[in-house]
Amino acid sequence: RKWGWSLAGELRQAAARDPDRIAVVDDRGTESTYAELLDRSTRLARALRAGLGVQAGDRIAVLCRNHPGLVETIVAATLLGADAVLVNTGLSAAQLSTVADEQQLRVLVHDDEFTDRTLGLPPDLHRLDERARAELIGSALPGELQPPERDGRIIVLTSGTTGTPKGARRPTPSGFGPLVSIIDRIPVQARDRVMIAAPVFHTWGYAALQVGFALRATVVLHRRFDPAATLDALVRHRCQVLFAVPVMLQRLLEVPPPDPRPPLKVVAVSGSALPGGLPAQFMDAYGDVLYNLYGSTEASWASIATPTDLRQAPTTAGRPPHGTQLRILDDAGEPVPAGRVGRIFVGNEMLFEGYTSGTDRNRHDGLLDTGDLGRVNAEGLLFVDGRADDMIVSGGENVFPSEVEQLLAQLPQVREAAVIGVPDPEYGQRLAAFLGLHPGETLDPEAVREYVRHYLARFSVPRDVVFVKYLPRNTTGKVLTRDLRRYIAG
Ligand code: ATP
Repeated sequence: RKWGWSLAGELRQAAARDPDRIAVVDDRGTESTYAELLDRSTRLARALRAGLGVQAGDRIAVLCRNHPGLVETIVAATLLGADAVLVNTGLSAAQLSTVADEQQLRVLVHDDEFTDRTLGLPPDLHRLDERARAELIGSALPGELQPPERDGRIIVLTSGTTGTPKGARRPTPSGFGPLVSIIDRIPVQARDRVMIAAPVFHTWGYAALQVGFALRATVVLHRRFDPAATLDALVRHRCQVLFAVPVMLQRLLEVPPPDPRPPLKVVAVSGSALPGGLPAQFMDAYGDVLYNLYGSTEASWASIATPTDLRQAPTTAGRPPHGTQLRILDDAGEPVPAGRVGRIFVGNEMLFEGYTSGTDRNRHDGLLDTGDLGRVNAEGLLFVDGRADDMIVSGGENVFPSEVEQLLAQLPQVREAAVIGVPDPEYGQRLAAFLGLHPGETLDPEAVREYVRHYLARFSVPRDVVFVKYLPRNTTGKVLTRDLRRYIAG
């Protein structure tokens, strides 16, 4: 029976072809070969069926940081034909209750540190902490499992930065397409040593893991992101590849680079915009190894910028890879000319299949509306301006927060910057800028406004300038604009 492009499918193939190769190494020194990982996952699947009666079509949620147990649980679910619901570890107890109800969860596998958040969940939902999971695996018999009628599916929960978390059903394409689209622009190779610092519960981290297994790579997973520990692991495990989210690069640059440097050839980031100054700074420190992927839970990756692209245009999201169509359309669904801003539409094998509840995303000729605005220049490079919903209309003029953020981030004193639109009685909306400064630095709000006035139009100048120690971010490094709004309102 044919397996779609799933973690379980890739793991089975890797275990058959390269059983003794180390598949996963974690931050506690645990190593599992491909054969061992498949065996543990299969035992867990058997025990879930025998002990808890899990059937094809049931839903098993995972609330875990990056470690082998997370991988085993996802694979076990798929082997049973059950759906694995990947829960963002940033969800509150209340959000988790809503999710459990909406997704009709049968089982929740969670790390011990999240036990408190699971206490209010309905009693008929099986909750498995780390010990319960280990006992299940220990109690189960080894051996193959009969393939289920249908593969279990992967449901990724969005982080909920724009509202209640939604469950997005991932597709299971042939496997060939996604992998080719990566190697079309990124020089990863079979049997590379890879560190995945991006959370695996997020589409990007999950996709990175699938790519890793498809390459029969050795994958290093750490439960938490710590810049010094990450650099240390990259050196120790001689990783050539790092998959991360943009804010992690900033944090890596804040600690001294190791000597010798890790043998990196690829550092691929996705999930939010890359601040304009960062690519050059990072590549000057670690070599021309940076790749920026633009994508979302719904669209997977839609474009990839290579180090050459980023040297030429630091804020670019690059070009669509093999097998991906990218269109910039106006409100009437017509293509806009090069350089003009429109809505970004994407088509590829990896588009999500729909939300588990609620309305689908708008589609046009088979292409998905990303909800983002952007433009493609004459050379074919994509620039993402941000979510259409985040666009600020101040005094009738449109302002992209990203444009102002990119400019503010270039001030030498500024470590990170976020700009939002807040209600204003006179202009409809006005701009508020939140700035995190480098240690020991100070800035005068009026000097900030003067600086922006020098480069941008009058309506792009932030009226409110707020200094913060750190910007509030979710687990994938996205700024929580909701919290910033609340701050201004309060
Ligand atoms: P929610 O929709 O609840 O915020 P989420 O945080 O899981 O959930 P994602 O699907 O991960 O959302 O976010 C995707 C969005 O992030 C894109 O639509 C785009 O706005 C932004 N984004 C992702 N990668 C890039 C990039 N390389 N450059 C610019 N923007 C990016």
